[in-house]
Amino acid sequence: MKPQLESNINKKPLYWLAALLLMAYTIIVTVVYQQVKNTVIENKLDELNQHILYQKSLRQYINTQLKPVIYNLQKQQIISYDYFDPHLLSATFIARNIYQNFDESLDAKNMHSWKYRLAAKNPLNPINQATPAEIELLNKFNNNHNLKSIYQIETINGEETLYYAAPFNPNNASCLRCHGIPKVAPKGLIERYGSETGFYEKIGDIRAFFSYRLKLSESMAYAHKPFIAISIIIFAFIMIFYAITAWAYLVEQKRKLLVARQQEELEFVAHHDFLTKLKNRHCLSRDFSAQLTEINKATHHYSNLWVIMLDIDFFKAINDDFGHDIGDIALKKFGEILQEEVKNLEHAEAYRLGGEEFLIIIRNTDAKIINALYTDICESFANIEIQGLDRTIQLSAGATEVQLEEHQFDILKRVDKALYQAKEQGRNRLIII
Ligand code: GH3
Ligand code: MG
Ligand code: MG
Repeated sequence: MKPQLESNINKKPLYWLAALLLMAYTIIVTVVYQQVKNTVIENKLDELNQHILYQKSLRQYINTQLKPVIYNLQKQQIISYDYFDPHLLSATFIARNIYQNFDESLDAKNMHSWKYRLAAKNPLNPINQATPAEIELLNKFNNNHNLKSIYQIETINGEETLYYAAPFNPNNASCLRCHGIPKVAPKGLIERYGSETGFYEKIGDIRAFFSYRLKLSESMAYAHKPFIAISIIIFAFIMIFYAITAWAYLVEQKRKLLVARQQEELEFVAHHDFLTKLKNRHCLSRDFSAQLTEINKATHHYSNLWVIMLDIDFFKAINDDFGHDIGDIALKKFGEILQEEVKNLEHAEAYRLGGEEFLIIIRNTDAKIINALYTDICESFANIEIQGLDRTIQLSAGATEVQLEEHQFDILKRVDKALYQAKEQGRNRLIII
């Protein structure tokens, strides 16, 4: 049985293509994911900016609308100068309460809350005390007043978050009423927060900043579905591309292998005998020429190249007595014996010249080996068992050593003459001349 064409196809390019496409897919999906993430972050920052505008409006309302009314009431001594209640007079207190309420409401509705936070290095209300990391950030804002906000992706407990922080305006004179010297602060303020912290702030310093922290996984949640859909579509496209390419490649490779195999077969048929599968006469003249060129190049004065011609004795009678089919089987078996014999010799080749005539070319040999070879072949042939053939088949043979610079034609003529002599002298023998 001939091996299947598929198993001979080099599939390595397909594996490489698969690996390459897988790599490309990973890169594309990563880029798409980053793009989706960037879009989500941009949208969130837009939302945040709007949110900050609301916040600013609220603070502006408190500072420009609400507080002047209270101060006016104090001026008219309707409200005492020492009166202080943060629910009415602290913009940060009011804002924080409103935003934290807002966050709680969002959390209660399982919506993404902003996690509003206020942080001060030296707060009146301990609830606003900055953490060491926040103090560091506050120092950064103080060292660079042009820094109006920061936003960054931070990983907290293994989860990515979008962190946004923006400083309060630097202290002005009106800030120092409650954050300057405790002596000038409203008594109500001291009563509420004491005089230990929150004071001795300087004009121009940034006292606090506010921040938001959004879990990116929550913000990304709504982008997951389209992202997965895009990934699947890209994967499907890549698979289709791979399937078409692999199919086209396999078809082309199969075609090439088929052509190569047909060429091999044609080559075999042209150079081999159909029945015995030995090389044919056409092949002999080609091989023999090559051998002669080779030995003539050598520096020895002898060739050591021998030719032995074999002819089955009374083969016509075998055909006549047992049938052509049996004759064919005998020739086939004889071919196998010759093939086996030359396999055991170095530089030997067997040919079918035609009919029941065969020839062997052997290099690096001598008359003794030729004799032994002939005997071996005769014995093997005598011992073959063919159903329906009960006759010992014998062989005649002629052999000769090739002389240097000799022509192929002359050698074949001489060996043919040797064979003729073997026939003449009663067959079943080898004659060397
Ligand atoms: P000799 O001892 O003188 O060689 O006698 P022989 O009968 O072997 O020689 P001859 O040349 O008279 O006959 C050769 C025969 O070989 C004739 C032919 O029928 C037979 N032959 C040639 N080719 C084939 C073949 O392919 N198959 C079979 N079965 N017989 C073949
Ligand atoms: Mg014969
Ligand atoms: Mg013959």
